Amino acid sequence: MEEKPAAAMDTGPAAAGPPPVIRLENVYKTYDLGEIQVQALRGISLEVKLQEFAAVMGPSGSGKSTVMNILGCLDRPTRGRYFLDGVDVSQMSKNELARIRNRKLGFVFQQFNLLARTSALENVELPTIYAGIPPEERAKRAMESLERVGLADRAGHYPSQLSGGQQQRVAIARALVNRPSILLADEPTGNLDSRTSVEIMEILQTLNEEHGLTIVMVTHEADIARFAQRTLEFRDGKLRRDALVRDRSLAREVLLTLPTADEQAAEEAEEQARREKLARADAEA
Ligand code: ADP
Ligand code: MG
Repeated sequence: MEEKPAAAMDTGPAAAGPPPVIRLENVYKTYDLGEIQVQALRGISLEVKLQEFAAVMGPSGSGKSTVMNILGCLDRPTRGRYFLDGVDVSQMSKNELARIRNRKLGFVFQQFNLLARTSALENVELPTIYAGIPPEERAKRAMESLERVGLADRAGHYPSQLSGGQQQRVAIARALVNRPSILLADEPTGNLDSRTSVEIMEILQTLNEEHGLTIVMVTHEADIARFAQRTLEFRDGKLRRDALVRDRSLAREVLLTLPTADEQAAEEAEEQARREKLARADAEA
């Protein structure tokens, strides 16, 4: 049997196919706290390709948020290089980074970070102001974004009038409003129950597959990571494992197996009634 020359061999999940939109080369990040220095990232090299959906995993303190902040141009590496769409952004000024962020990137966080006394529509509209979208187009764009996450009918609601899952959908709509090509999500389901988490995964999978968004999502839950195509596992500021997801979960299918909120409430009420009946029987005995 003929052996393949080393240069032509597959070097991992990132080896073939579309070009990388994200490339980190030997990235270090050190937080200087005066007395001590925290080495949050210690030589990270990785690529994320166009229209990929990758999950960043790892224990608390392993460097997940630090790497996301660098990918999101919110922070710069101490050492090493970051190529975004082929352009080295690791040495850019804060203003240049802000411009790139506005154009190319959308963010979703664990805390939804919505303004409380502001309607869903206005929350979603906010980034269009900074991006210089003409005023007459802002509301239309915001409405389109809300439609994408299935919340057009809640446009006038305030965050306090929405469930956690709905608030996170508003936050996703806000992340999409400037039409980014990359979505970065740091523990987007960290504050949500399991069904709602899968509903959020359904939105991310649809954005990835039907709208071609490249997605990088942090999660420490293995079940949630399985909705991505690929997992990047961090430990102690290093990338320990980079693997394709086998038997990827499809949110649309998983949702069919989970009870709806109404069914869950009915089940709980039934359980409660059963417990009360037992307690009464005990008391009478
Ligand atoms: P993760 O998101 O995986 O929990 P982080 O990237 O937030 O991890 O943190 C990695 C390491 O860097 C931790 O030791 C954390 O305490 C430290 N760290 C994170 N942000 C800062 C900061 N702004 N200043 C100092 N240390 C920080
Ligand atoms: Mg974190």
